Amino acid sequence: MDVNSSPRVPGLQTIAAREAVLLAPWAMRSADSRGRKYPETEHPYRGPFQRDRDRVVHSSAFRRLSGKMQVFTGDMGDYHRTRLTHTHEVASIARTIGRALRLNEDLIEALALFHDIGHPPFGHAGEDALNSCLADCGGFSHNRYALTIAEELEIRYQSFPGLNLSHEVLESQATRVDKQAAGNSPLLEAQVVDVADSMTYDAHDTDDSVKLELVTIDELAEIPLIRETVGRVHQRFGTLRGDLLRKAVVHELIDRQVTDVLQTAGQVLSQRRFESADEARRSGYRMAPSGDLAEQKAELESFLYQRVYRHPRLVEVRRRAQDRLHAMFIGYCRRSALLPPEFRARAELVGIGRTVGEYLAGMTDRYCVQQYELYFA
Ligand code: MG
Repeated sequence: MDVNSSPRVPGLQTIAAREAVLLAPWAMRSADSRGRKYPETEHPYRGPFQRDRDRVVHSSAFRRLSGKMQVFTGDMGDYHRTRLTHTHEVASIARTIGRALRLNEDLIEALALFHDIGHPPFGHAGEDALNSCLADCGGFSHNRYALTIAEELEIRYQSFPGLNLSHEVLESQATRVDKQAAGNSPLLEAQVVDVADSMTYDAHDTDDSVKLELVTIDELAEIPLIRETVGRVHQRFGTLRGDLLRKAVVHELIDRQVTDVLQTAGQVLSQRRFESADEARRSGYRMAPSGDLAEQKAELESFLYQRVYRHPRLVEVRRRAQDRLHAMFIGYCRRSALLPPEFRARAELVGIGRTVGEYLAGMTDRYCVQQYELYFA
């Protein structure tokens, strides 16, 4: 990608000049991008990954994330995270880590905003239901569906289907589908988004589940990570209770995880001194929390799994969502005239089963319930 040329708006610095000053040798440079499937002329003042970020933000699949649950459904209140606010928290934490490690923040932001775009309605319950509906035609994975959205389903331009994102964004997403896809480690920018995703949901699921009174901080403090976090909060701020304690625990939980990864990754990067993004990938290095923190996070995640994600209130939501999706899958396959015209056309290409799966996966939680009530209840 030619981002080295002089700026076409007088007085502006080129992307390449800016990156030469700011980025570490192991960062992915915009000038080294392998470009897009359908070649496009360079933008006068946005780099390729900035354009990718903007294309994601302006896509309809991205906007629909506001109507898709992360863990808790909309009828449980309006405090907790949706898939969209989760995505913004991931982008924010990932950029903090990326800036500290002198990685390409534009690429990180594009990848973070893109990472959950393929989630179907009703979170993992929805994904499991669609996966079983599509068992005969390859199953369903939200990570793979994100690529289908980006390459085929979003129609924003006359000259090509999809968003025509840069190779690096698509390839990084492909490594989420199949960890071995590239043969090498993912780009460090993609690894940052992965670790930030895990930090983010561990922190906000703790917050949301206490706020929704599914568990208490005292119960969570049975596990070492939360016990130590509460201890540090009390050390810094004195004895806090209620909402203030919960909020301080969340700040501290994010801070602990980000600091840990920066220390661990910072040490490796400063010792190994990769000379390029490619060399970092070939080395097989994988960014991860330190052993102690990884163990503590696993304990928190298994606590959340048993006490929150499997809470009777959520099990009921899960069951109802899956029953609906199964009924809708069978219903739309039988009555394809109910599909919008572009999906009826797509059925000719990829078959009715896959098409119905894709149509259902694009729905928000609310739209899914509405369509179910309208046609299949
Ligand atoms: Mg996520």
